[in-house]
Amino acid sequence: MSYVDDVLALVQKKNASEPEFLQAVEEVLNSLRPVIEANEEKFRKEALLERLTEPERQVKFRVPWVDDNGQVQVNVGYRVQFNSAIGPYKGGIRLHPSVNIGIIKFLGFEQIFKNSLTGLPIGGGKGGSDFDPKGKSDREVMAFCQSFMTELCRHIGADTDVPAGDIGTGAREIGYMFGQYKRIRNLYEGVLTGKGLSYGGSLARKEATGYGLLYLTEEMLKCNGHDIKGKTIVLSGAGNVAIYAAEKAAELGAKVVTMSDSNGWIYDAEGIDLNAIKELKEVKRARLSEYKNYRPNAEYHEGRGVFGVKCDIALPCATQNELLLEDAKQLVANGCIAVAEGANMPTTLDATKYLQRNKVLFAPGKAANAGGVATSALEMSQNSERLSWSFEEVDAKLHDIMVNIFHSLDNAAKKYGAEGDYVAGANIAGFEKVVDAMLAQGVV
Ligand code: NDP
Repeated sequence: MSYVDDVLALVQKKNASEPEFLQAVEEVLNSLRPVIEANEEKFRKEALLERLTEPERQVKFRVPWVDDNGQVQVNVGYRVQFNSAIGPYKGGIRLHPSVNIGIIKFLGFEQIFKNSLTGLPIGGGKGGSDFDPKGKSDREVMAFCQSFMTELCRHIGADTDVPAGDIGTGAREIGYMFGQYKRIRNLYEGVLTGKGLSYGGSLARKEATGYGLLYLTEEMLKCNGHDIKGKTIVLSGAGNVAIYAAEKAAELGAKVVTMSDSNGWIYDAEGIDLNAIKELKEVKRARLSEYKNYRPNAEYHEGRGVFGVKCDIALPCATQNELLLEDAKQLVANGCIAVAEGANMPTTLDATKYLQRNKVLFAPGKAANAGGVATSALEMSQNSERLSWSFEEVDAKLHDIMVNIFHSLDNAAKKYGAEGDYVAGANIAGFEKVVDAMLAQGVV
C-alpha cells in the first residue's frame, strides 16, 4: 500500500469514533497524494504524516458553573494544540452542544493548513465546549466563561496559544474570558483575539471572515472570466461570518436572497435587509422567524432548504456538513457557477466531488474563510506593537492576503497538474510550508 493509504488506515483505526476528524484527514491526505508520492520514502522514514495527524497536545477538562436557579451545571472543555511548526497555536473556541473531541480535532487539523495559507506565522489549534450560550442570561454566560478560562489559562499565552471566537463565541464571551485570564495570570497580553476595541481588539476583525470570503470569491470569479456584480447569492447561517459576507456581497453589487439559522431559513427576493438581520441577531439574539416583522414580503421556512433556491453563487456559512450531495445536485441543475465555503467543512466529500466534476468553481473553507484568522494575526501584531491600525489599513491588508491566498492555491494546483482544483491547491500550498518547518525542526 502507498504511504497515504497506510496512514489513512492507521488514522481510521486510532480515531474510529471521530467521523468529522476522519473526513477532514481523508480529504486532505487524498488531495496531497502527488506531493507525498514525490517524497514517499523520506516522509515515511520521518513518520511525517503520522506526526501531522496526531495533535501535539490535547486537554480535556471539567467546567462547573452555577445557573440562575442556584443549580450547579457541568460542561466539558477542550483545547487541541495540533501543530506549532510555524508559530504559536491559533484557532477559535466553539461553544455548541454538538461539540466533542472529534469535532475539535477536525477543526484543529484544518486550522494548520488554513493558518499556513495566510502566510503569517501561526500554528494550528482549536478549542471549545458543549456549553450552549443560547437562552442563557449574561450572568450565566459569564459564570461559564470564567470557569472555562480558570482551567484554560494554564495552557495558553500570547506566545504559546492564542484562541479566538467561533460558533457561539462572540465579543461577549471573549470579553468575559479575557477578563478572567488577566485576573488569574496578572498579565495584560494579547492572549485572545476578537477582543473589544476598548481593550486591544482590532478594527475589521468582526467583519474579517465574511469580507475575506467575498474578496477571495471575487478574485476566483475574476480569474475565471466572471464578474461578481449582478450575481444572485444564496447564503446559509446568520451569525458572524454570514452577516459580514452578506454585507460585503451587497457592497460588491451582488444580491443575497437567503440566510438561515438552526431552526429555519428566509428568502427575500429583493435582497436581504441587513439592518434587520443585525438587529435580530446582534442585538436581540432572536430567531430568523422574526424577519417577517421587518419585511412582510419575505418568506420564512422551517428546516433546511437554502441550497434549493436558484442562484449563481452559494456561500455556506453556518456549520460542517450542511451542503449535501442532494444540495449540490440542485445547485448544478439551477446553474450555480461557484461555491465558496465561509464555514469550516460545510460541504460533504461527495457533494464537493459532484460540484467539481460539474465544473462549479469550488473554494474550500481553509482558504475561503482564512480572513478571520489572518486578521486575528494582525490583531496579535497590533497588541505586540501596542498600536491600533485604522479600519482601512486592516481591511486593505485583509484584501491583499485573500487575493494572495487565491493565487497561491491556484498556482499550487497548476504545479501539480490539477488546474482549477482549489481543494488540492489549498491543501498542497498549506502543507508545503508546514512540512518544511517540521523537517527543519527535527523529531519533535
Ligand atoms: P455564529 O455562532 O456567529 O453563527 C453560526 C450560524 O450558523 C448561526 O446562524 C447558527 O444558527 C447556524 N448554525 C450553527 N450550528 C448549526 C447547525 N448545527 N445547524 C444549522 N445551523 C447552525 O458562528 P460563526 O459565524 O462565527 O461561524 C460559522 C462557521 O464559520 C463555523 O463553521 C465556523 O467554524 C466558521 N468560521 C468562523 C470564523 C469566525 O471568524 N467567526 C472564522 C473561520 C471559520 P443558530 O444561531 O440558530 O444556532
